[in-house]
Amino acid sequence: MEPILAGQGKTPEQLYEHLSRLEDPVSYTPESCARFYEQIQEIRRLKRERNAVVLAHNYQRPEIFEVADFIGDSLELARQATQVIADVIVFCGVHFMAETAKILNPEKTVLLPDLRAGCSLADSVDAESLADRKEELRTLYPDLAVVTYVNTTADVKAESDVCCTSSNAVKIVNALPNRHILFVPDENLARYVQQETDKTIISWDGNCYVHHQITPDQIAAVKKNLPHVKILAHPECRADVLGLADAVLSTSGMVRYAKESEASEFLIVTECGLSDRLLLELPEKKFYKVCKLCQYMKMITLGDTLESLRLMRHEITLSEEVRRGAERALRRMFELS
Ligand code: SF4
Repeated sequence: MEPILAGQGKTPEQLYEHLSRLEDPVSYTPESCARFYEQIQEIRRLKRERNAVVLAHNYQRPEIFEVADFIGDSLELARQATQVIADVIVFCGVHFMAETAKILNPEKTVLLPDLRAGCSLADSVDAESLADRKEELRTLYPDLAVVTYVNTTADVKAESDVCCTSSNAVKIVNALPNRHILFVPDENLARYVQQETDKTIISWDGNCYVHHQITPDQIAAVKKNLPHVKILAHPECRADVLGLADAVLSTSGMVRYAKESEASEFLIVTECGLSDRLLLELPEKKFYKVCKLCQYMKMITLGDTLESLRLMRHEITLSEEVRRGAERALRRMFELS
């Protein structure tokens, strides 16, 4: 988990200089950065007053990173959520991530700045369908284990044997004694895991609309013009896209790779927020984008984050039965990874 270093205490002018490196003249003007500056100051004041922390996913808007206590991928944020000492967690990410924070911190107040921030992948499975499919498959494969990606709702997690993230999926599957695995819900990640294990993976038919729409032609076009770039792709991408990658990594895996690699130019194949983070954190390196925006991630704004803290609104609540079931699956993931 990486504490935010860049951006603490910037003046409005420094903020503009920082964010204008993204070359987005519509979103980042001197006026918008002056407004962000005011909001950042107020969020920091409220964080102290409420004893709150802000956890932000790698795909969030870059101005949100300025108020985040931690930025990371799903696994890092889930781990971080177990170590939070504050009374309030403001989760700048999507709904299932805020639920995960609540599952692991039942005594804390967890806020999501905009309740519309969902996820196409999480929506592709519900607890009832999963229970039915599990029962059906267990008549054929009595040893079947259900491994569920963290990008799912709490009640789906509660129906599962163990959770996983994109960075530990292969490790979790291989650590289980079971030979047959129902992998829920991302079909692309399931296919990637199948390539890396000799177990039998039975896939759900969900996908992330952001990664699924990236095509091999887009990668090939960049590779043709810039053959020296390192191609880093997220395992939620299609198999024909992953086949062109130099490395298949979670978002934080990409951050580490880019920082540690001797290469200086990279093609980042995931949601655009990660490329923005890398552009801002590693200005000495070049990052090309074959990326798509996640409409859900981008629903969270600095203004909504401020209002969420000011009004303590959009609190995540869960029934204790579902919370306990989901916590069991998440804790097993931590044990196995
Ligand atoms: S990028 Fe895909 S998996 Fe992540 S929140 Fe958006 S829709 Fe869901």
